[in-house]
Amino acid sequence: MLKINENYLNIKGSYLFAGIAKKVREFSAANPDKKLISMGIGDVTLPLADAVVAEIKAAADEQGRADTFHGYGPEQGYDFLKNAIKDYYLKNTGVELSLNEIFVSDGAKSDVGNMLDIFSKDNVVLIPDPVYPVYVDTNVMDGRKIVYLNANQENGFLPMPDETVDCGIIYLCSPNNPTGAVYSRDQLKKWVDYANSKGAVILFDAAYEAFISDPLLPRSIFEIDGARTCAIEFCSLSKTAGFTGTRCGYTIVPKALSVGGVKLNPLWLRRQTTKFNGVSYIVQKGASAVFSEAGIEQSRKNIEYYRNNAKIIMQTMDELNITYTGGKNSPYVWLKCPSNMGSWEFFDLLLEKANVVGTPGEGFGKNGEGFFRLTSFSNYENTLEAMERIKNILK
Ligand code: PLP
Repeated sequence: MLKINENYLNIKGSYLFAGIAKKVREFSAANPDKKLISMGIGDVTLPLADAVVAEIKAAADEQGRADTFHGYGPEQGYDFLKNAIKDYYLKNTGVELSLNEIFVSDGAKSDVGNMLDIFSKDNVVLIPDPVYPVYVDTNVMDGRKIVYLNANQENGFLPMPDETVDCGIIYLCSPNNPTGAVYSRDQLKKWVDYANSKGAVILFDAAYEAFISDPLLPRSIFEIDGARTCAIEFCSLSKTAGFTGTRCGYTIVPKALSVGGVKLNPLWLRRQTTKFNGVSYIVQKGASAVFSEAGIEQSRKNIEYYRNNAKIIMQTMDELNITYTGGKNSPYVWLKCPSNMGSWEFFDLLLEKANVVGTPGEGFGKNGEGFFRLTSFSNYENTLEAMERIKNILK
C-alpha cells in the first residue's frame, strides 16, 4: 500500500499568520469604521523599478518574434544575468565568483528548501530560534534532527557556535528575519572556523543584504576567509528590488566546497538540471536590469524609502524607551514588548487600541515570546500614522 511521508504530519501548522488573519477579520467585522494599519507585512509595497519594467517589456516582445524567441534555457540561469550578478558581487562585497558558482532561481525560499536534497537525512541541523520558519519546516519534512541555537537579548540575537555541539548543517540568516540583527565579520569568522573544523556546511541566507547600511558589516559570507570551503549563500531580488511577485533569486555554491571528497557544486547542478526548469527568460532579463546603473540607482531609492520608515519606527521606540534590535541594517524592528507583555497580549493591545497590526515574536520560535516585529515595508504616511497611534497609547 502507498505510504506517505509521515514527517509531514509533524510540521506545525502556520498558526502565526492564520492567527493574525483571524483576529484582524474579527476586529474589522466588529469595528467596520476603524482604519487598520498593517505594520506586520513581510512583503514589499513599492513597484518594480522603471529600468526593470522596460527590460521585461522588451523581453516579452523578443519572445513574440521568431528570430529572438527563447525556448528552454539553461536551468542554472543565462550568462547575461550570471555576469551581472558576478559584477555586483565584486562591486558590493569584493568577492570574486566564477560563473559556474552562480545558480539563478525563482527565489531564496525554494533554494533554501531544495538544497536539502543533496544532504543526507542523518545530518544534525543547527537552527537559530527565532528565525524564518522555512528552515525548520523543510527539515521536519525530511525528519532531520534539529538543535536550536538560542538567540536572545543576552547574545544580541546573534548566537555563536558551541564547540561541544556536533552538527552537519548550520543555518545563519544575516540580516536576520525577524530580529534584524546582523553578524559582524569577527562573529562570522568564528562560525566559518567552527563549520570547517566540524566538516559542516553553513547555509547562509543573505536575502536582506541590500538593507545593510554599515560599511563595516559583511554583506556576503564569502567576505570571510575560509567560507568557500564551508558555505552556500542564498540571495534574493525579492526585497532588494521588489521581485516578490516577479520571482528571481540566486544561490552561490563555491567550487571549493566538498564533503568527504565529493564536490557540492556539481551535485547542486545535477539537482537543478533534473528537477528545476530555470527562471523564465523574461524575468531573467528584468533581473539583469536590477544590476544596470539605472536599476541599481532606482532600487537604492526604494531601499532608502523603507530605511526612512525604519528610522521613524526606531525613533518612536527610542521615545517610548522600548528596547529593540534591527531597523538600521534591516527592514525589521524587533522590539521587547513593554511592561513584560506577552507577544499576543501586545498584538491585541495594538490591534484594539491603536488599530495597528504587527507580528507576535513567538511565531518565529520560542525565544520570540515577549517580542514583537514591526516592518518598514508599509508606506511612509501609514508608518507615521501608526507610530503616532502607538505613542498615544503607550505614553
Ligand atoms: N529568506 C528570508 C530570511 C526571508 O525572510 C524570506 C522572505 O520573507 C525569504 C528568504 C524568501 O525569499 P524569496 O522571496 O526570494 O523566496
